[in-house]
Amino acid sequence: MSTGSVEVVYRGIFQKTLAKNICRGIVLAARKEGKIGTAFGRYGDSPERNGIPAKQFAVVSDTAEELEEHLARYEPDNNDVTIVVDDALCKGVESWAWYGLQPINKLLGKGGTLLVTSYQSPNKLIKTIHRKGDPYNLALIKAQASFSGLWVYKDDHTDVRLLGALAKVAPHIVSLESIVAAIAEQWKDDGKVASAKKSYDLVESGPVGADQGSDEKPFSFDLPGWTKMEEGLVIRGMSAQPQDVPGRDGGYVPTRSETFKKFSTRTMRPVINFDTCTKCTLCWLNCPDTCFDITPDGFYDANMEACCGCGVCEAVCPVSDCVTMVNEESFEDHDSQWEMWAKDKESYSAWLSEKIADKPARSHGFHHVGQYAEEIGK
Ligand code: SF4
Ligand code: SF4
Repeated sequence: MSTGSVEVVYRGIFQKTLAKNICRGIVLAARKEGKIGTAFGRYGDSPERNGIPAKQFAVVSDTAEELEEHLARYEPDNNDVTIVVDDALCKGVESWAWYGLQPINKLLGKGGTLLVTSYQSPNKLIKTIHRKGDPYNLALIKAQASFSGLWVYKDDHTDVRLLGALAKVAPHIVSLESIVAAIAEQWKDDGKVASAKKSYDLVESGPVGADQGSDEKPFSFDLPGWTKMEEGLVIRGMSAQPQDVPGRDGGYVPTRSETFKKFSTRTMRPVINFDTCTKCTLCWLNCPDTCFDITPDGFYDANMEACCGCGVCEAVCPVSDCVTMVNEESFEDHDSQWEMWAKDKESYSAWLSEKIADKPARSHGFHHVGQYAEEIGK
């Protein structure tokens, strides 16, 4: 008797169909082996919003009784595999469903596998993942984050590649034969079957030690206990008073939510060239999340704890290459870009060039047959 569970962490809306396809594929494949399974999203993540981390699960058991028993605990917290379909999520996730930042490996069981789509090296990626305290495995398939819209199916084979890789890292949940049979039945596409098999062969997996990874303490909040809760539904407004920033004299920093920071929504972030900025105000006026602090010398500094990475500032900036969206995976902190620039303009310029050079297209998937093989050099 055994039960296996898989958690899929994805970007709300943009990857909803991708996550659904993966979980559905697992359950269909398990049925080919005479097992029983179910796939479901988490109520707390609904309604989804663009880019906000969300989760779906697939649970597979040998018998209906065992499956029922397992599902009595609504959220499987000891998953065999956690699949992550955007490697920027490895820095931690903040969602509707909890307060604060949750490490990406929090619901992964001891000895389980974190399976990520990424072009980063395992060592670089591990540095961004919070220490788990238990050993686990990190498996990578080379792929970029595959984004599309609500209900849209992006046919770039990311779903079947992940299913093939899953069969390799967790054969006790589904075998490659079952995955191949389910894909052939579901999609009736030999190309997808070939992609799943190729991914099974190419997935790279290695151990991560209990104390390997980032030692950052994920931010969290004390929630009121039952005895401290107020009557009725209380929605506190934010103070209209600007914030004081220690060491910063002048400028304007709006008050922001202390309990919902939003930065884990981001898969890209803006970098700003203050040398070419004309202080036109358009980024500040148009940012939907009030992210821009006005600096004492009248520049606009995007606050990286508040930015959700929507790209509006890049789109509205009238100065060529003054605001550039860059892969979130290139950054390790939320430091103020304006402070870096004000401190040392030459170093900032070098930093800016380096970041802008590391600007792979994240959101476009694959466009032609063979592009994946070209990109990974196979
Ligand atoms: S990407 Fe730009 S416009 Fe969008 S939230 Fe961030 S700072 Fe604001
Ligand atoms: S939109 Fe561009 S030029 Fe205008 S203030 Fe913002 S960064 Fe500067």
